[in-house]
Amino acid sequence: MPVPAATSAREILSRLHEVMASRSNAQAKLNQVVQVVGEVLGSEVCSIYLRRDGVLELYATRGLKQEAVHVTKLALGEGLVGTIAEQISTLNLDEATSHPDFAYRPETGEDLFHSFAGVPIIRREDAVGVLCVQHVEPRKYEEVEIEALQTVAMVVSELIANAGLIDDAVKRGSKIIATNAVTLTGLKLVEGMAHGFAVFHQPRVAIEHTVAEDTEAERHRVYAAFDKMREQIERMASEAEFGVEGEHREILEMYKMFAYDEGWRRRINEAIDSGLTAEAAIERVQQRTRMRMRQIDDPLLAERMHDLEDMSNRLIRIVSGQLGSAAQSGLRQDAILIARNLGPAELLEYDRRRLKGVILEEGSLTAHVTIVARAMGVPVLGRVAHVRRTIAEGDAILLDGTQGSAFIRPTPAMEEAFDTKLTVSQKRRAAYAALKGEKPITKDGTRITVMCNAGLRDDVSAIELTGADGIGLFRTEFQFLVSATMPQRERQQRLYRDVMDAAGDKPVIFRTVDIGGDKALPYLRTEDTEEENPAMGWRALRLALEREGLMKAQARALLEASAGRTLHVMFPMVSEPWEFDQAQALFEKQRAWMAGQGRQGPSRIRYGAMLEVPALAECLDMILPKLDFLSIGTNDLTQFLFAADRANPKLAERYDWLSPAILRFIRRVLKEAQAAKVPVAVCGEMGGRTLEALALIGLGIDRLSVTPAAVGPLKAMIRSAHAADIQTQMQEWLVSPPASLRSKLTEWAKEKAIEI
Ligand code: PEP
Ligand code: MG
Repeated sequence: MPVPAATSAREILSRLHEVMASRSNAQAKLNQVVQVVGEVLGSEVCSIYLRRDGVLELYATRGLKQEAVHVTKLALGEGLVGTIAEQISTLNLDEATSHPDFAYRPETGEDLFHSFAGVPIIRREDAVGVLCVQHVEPRKYEEVEIEALQTVAMVVSELIANAGLIDDAVKRGSKIIATNAVTLTGLKLVEGMAHGFAVFHQPRVAIEHTVAEDTEAERHRVYAAFDKMREQIERMASEAEFGVEGEHREILEMYKMFAYDEGWRRRINEAIDSGLTAEAAIERVQQRTRMRMRQIDDPLLAERMHDLEDMSNRLIRIVSGQLGSAAQSGLRQDAILIARNLGPAELLEYDRRRLKGVILEEGSLTAHVTIVARAMGVPVLGRVAHVRRTIAEGDAILLDGTQGSAFIRPTPAMEEAFDTKLTVSQKRRAAYAALKGEKPITKDGTRITVMCNAGLRDDVSAIELTGADGIGLFRTEFQFLVSATMPQRERQQRLYRDVMDAAGDKPVIFRTVDIGGDKALPYLRTEDTEEENPAMGWRALRLALEREGLMKAQARALLEASAGRTLHVMFPMVSEPWEFDQAQALFEKQRAWMAGQGRQGPSRIRYGAMLEVPALAECLDMILPKLDFLSIGTNDLTQFLFAADRANPKLAERYDWLSPAILRFIRRVLKEAQAAKVPVAVCGEMGGRTLEALALIGLGIDRLSVTPAAVGPLKAMIRSAHAADIQTQMQEWLVSPPASLRSKLTEWAKEKAIEI
């Protein structure tokens, strides 16, 4: 009768408890471990091989010849032991010699033994050694015995880590033996180049103790952690927009499933029964799942495995009390942040002087986290598969956001090539900076207004640095996003005044708060914000008009800040003209009240609307007469026009801004606005890309508001282009669009020597 897994493991662990607590050295402890395991499992042989300098060295044995200790060495992949370590898998054989990978080592005297079972000793997802047992009798080991070996392997892993016996090559904690240079590619979300070191947004916890003192206490710790995790997941799921935690709804659903998975909880409980601590039990179950998954080649399951890894790490963090992101634990210099995804507020928590780049497994071009990173001037590479498995904390990284790649643990040759490119890019940047004083005028004399998008106080310096024509979109919600509580009117007013002061006589277009969507505020969470589709939900002007107090406070702050000057204000997500009317009326009422109080308001207010919801395009005749300007927000517009969530990484590359649908739409809006003599600008990310901006100029757009880093490249492009030429060409292409307008336009621009 086989003994239950927990029983044999428990017996071994209770005996190992003393071994671990003793003051003897690591070698003596390992010698005792092989004795205990061999005795409990009734095996003639029990051996431990450890990785040293990249090879597996026999470190301790009971049953094999002692002369072989520290003498027998196997390369990774060599023999049964090498195979176990290389594949991080288990072997259970009744006749070892018949296995194709068997390698005979005469010095060990192992020819006496027939059966063999071995498990990897794992540290941070990498094999640091092998624990194996052998028997004279040919027999397969029971599943329970293999489980017991795996549990013991965890304890040995702790022992050798504490003794400093982890091989340098694997110490760095990466699963794919991460000592070699690797190049990862992804989607360029924010261009730029950075040299730095990997910092995990959610650091992995190193497990300190594996053998429990008090099993019941460990069980309670796990139960309490489960409760807390469920609470967290419920909260995240009920947030109006998951942007706060940076997670996507689908992932949260999956998390929720795992959080309530009784099977998972039971397995952890069983591992605790065997004598492990809560942390080790969670890791033990995770290791077993990992091993199983390795044998199943199914990409869908592999994805789910990621989710389970996340949950497992989360649970370990909770149980060990190591909560919080890397932002809370003091960011190192030259950090390159590694995460699955991030919310804009999470990114803003990082010290922008130390943060040099971001690499995400997910991410999309117009997600707000990308926009915030762009505003912070931090290059971002997104959609990088398996990044968290390929990179280890502290790895050197060269992030090339201009090419869409990252070099991990670069070779000197890679560094050299990168530095050369960096110098070129710095020169180009310097050339763009030199255009600061030049006007963006096309070769045939069309003056294009190029303004900056901003949202943070420091962004205002961008006007000075780039020579932009003002701020075409000031995202006022950024101040709300970076605050732990609702910013009071005085604080808002101070920011607006400072921004206007810094801009001098150049205009600043303040957009009233666009909260909701992927910009959720933790302190503005009510029942009403639990939405199925937050991007299409209660956000921006919709929310502001209902939360009158919020809108009134902002109106007052803006009116007071612009005393004696012209205030430019625009409203986001206007879907129907009456929404604009209401927002304008609210401002006018506040203005009248201020006048009644004898307080000075702005000398003039110019009101604008953002065209982001396609419905508004059908009512232009109704709204245009009321507007001083119109600004097309192509980020939201694209998501609504194509019915494609802008934050969904799966759709990140699906639709092209240079598609006839978008271009024809913008042209139609522009024509109508021109007839009504209302100036039109484009303020979405589209306008900040030189090729797209060229197309927009081809449609007749002459106002762009873009991320500050794009001002220089845009000026260079504009100054090398001929407006009438591109307009004629675009007209032709929009009548009968080519298969790929992008490639046609690229070719065309090249022929005309336009700097794109
Ligand atoms: C837009 O939607 O294009 C826009 C400029 O606004 P935001 O990106 O802040 O939603
Ligand atoms: Mg928008």
